[in-house]
Parts: sequence; structure tokens; C-alpha cells
Amino acid sequence: MPEAAAIRKVIETLRRHFPGKGAVELDRPEDVLLATVLSARTRDEQVLKVYPKLRKRFPTLASLKKASVSEIADAIKEIGLYRAKAKSVKGIAEALLDAHGGNVPDTMEALVALPGVGRKTANCVLCYAFKKPAIAVDTHVHRIANRLGWVRTPDPQKTEFALMRLIPKGLWLHVNRVFVQFGRAVCVPGRPRCWKCPVARLCRYPRKTITPS
Ligand code: SF4
Repeated sequence: MPEAAAIRKVIETLRRHFPGKGAVELDRPEDVLLATVLSARTRDEQVLKVYPKLRKRFPTLASLKKASVSEIADAIKEIGLYRAKAKSVKGIAEALLDAHGGNVPDTMEALVALPGVGRKTANCVLCYAFKKPAIAVDTHVHRIANRLGWVRTPDPQKTEFALMRLIPKGLWLHVNRVFVQFGRAVCVPGRPRCWKCPVARLCRYPRKTITPS
């Protein structure tokens, strides 16, 4: 099991190398929530192209509630799973208006009760919209935490709970933001680029690469 000091060092080092914002770190909680729902199995660039179009056509939660699923689907049809996502978006607008006074709730329990919202989306909302300590485990966080040797977990949910036990709570907020950027640039799926990894010394991955090819 890694020491807290090593974990802190990795996260702080990566924060310095990858200071950018997360793609769904938008201004309003409802934007963080809805854009994250659209982002499932979809590239961030596509989400950031489609989401403003959706909100131009349906600027309020009331207009999303009033719209039909097929009208919402038509506005987001450039992204994958758009029919299911349209259903979730409409259901979320209804739930926020009917049960939460038009506001996004700020607890895990209330968030995962919304249509189409799982733990990863809920954690993104908690940390990006409300700055609450939460670890949103997507494919990058899951892969990197396993490569670093911090966890030995078969799926993202188990990784989330294992990381919550390992990582000091004050650092949870940074994990998704820095690991996603790091996972796209250096610790990529397939063959990681260990030769340019700023935390290689602290990583226990047994098949580290030492050259680009
Ligand atoms: S050394 Fe390689 S496997 Fe380990 S974190 Fe860095 S890029 Fe990923």
C-alpha cells in the first residue's frame, strides 16, 4: 500500500504539470450536471460543441421539461447515445423543477436519484459544481490508479471506494481533473509514455516504457 506522502507527492506533481480545468467545469451546477450526462462515452470536444447548442434551443429547465424527448434528441444528435441522453436530460429537468425547486442538489444520495445519473456523474457535480470532496472515477482515473499500484481493482466503483480510503480527503477534489489530463497526455491507454512521466519514480507499473517506440 502506498504511503500518504507518496500519494500527496504524485497528486501535487501532476497538479503542477497539468493545471488546466476539467472540460465540464462550467459555471452553473445545472450546466456541470447536464454536460456531464452528455459526456458519457463521448469526447469532451463534442460535448462542448453540442451543449451550448442544446441550451440555446432550451435555455431554461422549464423549456427542457416542456420539450419532447425527440426534440431534445434532435438538438444533441451529433453525440453517441443521444436518445438515452435526451431522455435523461428531460427527466433531470423535471426532477430538478418538481423535487428540488429548480436547483441541483449537492448530496450524493439526491444526485444518484436523478435519471441517468450514476456515481461518476454525481461525483463530478459534487467536486466541479460545489467544490465538495469527491473522487469522480472515470476510465483514466481507474487505469492510472491501478498502474501506479495504489489499488488493484477490477472496476471504477471499487476504485472509487479504495481511493477514498487511501487518498487524504483534502486532495480528492484534484484527482479527476489532473488524472484525466495526465491520462490523455502521458499515462495513455495502451502503451503509456513513461519516458516523459513526471511521477515515474513513484509508480509501480511493472512494464514501464523507456523510449517512444
Ligand atoms: S510511469 Fe508510466 S505507467 Fe506509471 S504513471 Fe507514469 S506513465 Fe503511467
